[in-house]
Amino acid sequence: MINLVLFGKPGAGKGTQAAFLKATFNLVHISTGDLFRYNIKNKTALGEKAQSFMDQGDLVPDQITIDMLKAEVDRNPKAEGFIFDGFPRTKAQAQALDIFLKAKKIQINATLALEADDDILVQRLLERGEASGRSDDQDELKIRNRFEEYNQKTEPLRDYYKGQKKFHSVNGIGSIEEITERLTNLIGSLN
Ligand code: AMP
Repeated sequence: MINLVLFGKPGAGKGTQAAFLKATFNLVHISTGDLFRYNIKNKTALGEKAQSFMDQGDLVPDQITIDMLKAEVDRNPKAEGFIFDGFPRTKAQAQALDIFLKAKKIQINATLALEADDDILVQRLLERGEASGRSDDQDELKIRNRFEEYNQKTEPLRDYYKGQKKFHSVNGIGSIEEITERLTNLIGSLN
């Protein structure tokens, strides 16, 4: 079983790459952003709780996010591995994930970080917002706030996973195919 975390700022390409990697390595892809958007669209109680935070580009509180993530993992008991996209985003989430997986006698094998400069990411997000209609991708102020949240709360996870010797940086600039190849080679080299 192989369990991967895809790490990177908004717009780094985590969702795009996860879609390829899940097919190649037969993994279940869990995107907390997608799960929140699904719940908002379907007007669930969870969606109602998450909406105001997402609208501002703030992180949804840890406990709500962690409970949702655990439920999603438990919905896939036959999975041969998971690819976590957009989770964990805080140290509390990372610690909760480690404890949760340990109880199942599994663990995160590697955290793969897609690295790219802010200016490129803002441009990508604005283009994505125009194509998808996603409101948090259309407003540069909200985008900047998501980066701020990332810098304050998520960036420290780099050291968290480096401390576990699981952190790998990947150049996130290039064509989609090039980046998929970089990630695939890296995963193939993990032992
Ligand atoms: P994403 O699609 O990953 O860019 O996530 C969109 C939004 O969903 C974020 O800006 C947060 O408001 C919320 N979100 C997604 N994942 C998390 C998480 N792990 N922790 C807290 N909030 C999250």
